[in-house]
Amino acid sequence: MPIAITFVCAYSKCAFTNHDSYNIMTLVMFQYCPSCASKNITLKVNKLSCLDCGFVLYQNTAAATGCVIQSDDKVLLLVRGKEPSLGKLDLPGGFVDPGEDVLNGLLRELREELGWQPPIPPGVPLVEILKLFASFPNIYPYKNIVYNTCDMFFTVSAPGLTENDFRIEAEEISSIRFVHPDDIDVEDLAFDSTRRAIEAFKELRERKSISV
Ligand SMILES: [Zn+2]
Repeated sequence: MPIAITFVCAYSKCAFTNHDSYNIMTLVMFQYCPSCASKNITLKVNKLSCLDCGFVLYQNTAAATGCVIQSDDKVLLLVRGKEPSLGKLDLPGGFVDPGEDVLNGLLRELREELGWQPPIPPGVPLVEILKLFASFPNIYPYKNIVYNTCDMFFTVSAPGLTENDFRIEAEEISSIRFVHPDDIDVEDLAFDSTRRAIEAFKELRERKSISV
């Protein structure tokens, strides 16, 4: 120990060069068994095991969301107001809370971060308003712990919406702006999964000739 297991990112433009940091960080977090305090622990991928008392801890992937809000020919980007990636561009969204489904998790994040949610006509299910178009894994470092996430990306159409229709959460977001997808440089985005999502959105837009 420590056992370093290299995780190879499938994304050729991935900015993270040390993908085994997740596993190393986990062992640093747990130098002793959380149950019996033995140092005789092992780590395999996302599973910590104690060889003395049999204690097992899984650090499973966390579900998270991102949303492409489309207004006419533009999409909404926000400037991150906190670490990680302070000052970089991002999509609204966030972690899904325990006991929450992914659609309502995203709806809550939109309300919290932007003070806004899409109109939901009576009888129309949320799945027809927030439309899944891509999903990518990500790693999210926060306060000395690196989380594995499964990010799911949705589109929502909101014609006529402007920056003035939002009330942004100041602790999380510095500013927001509507941008034409062709004007987004993916290198300005905060996370690998978000870069891949924007690229997927652009490809989807070209392939399907959707209205953005
Ligand atoms: Zn133990």
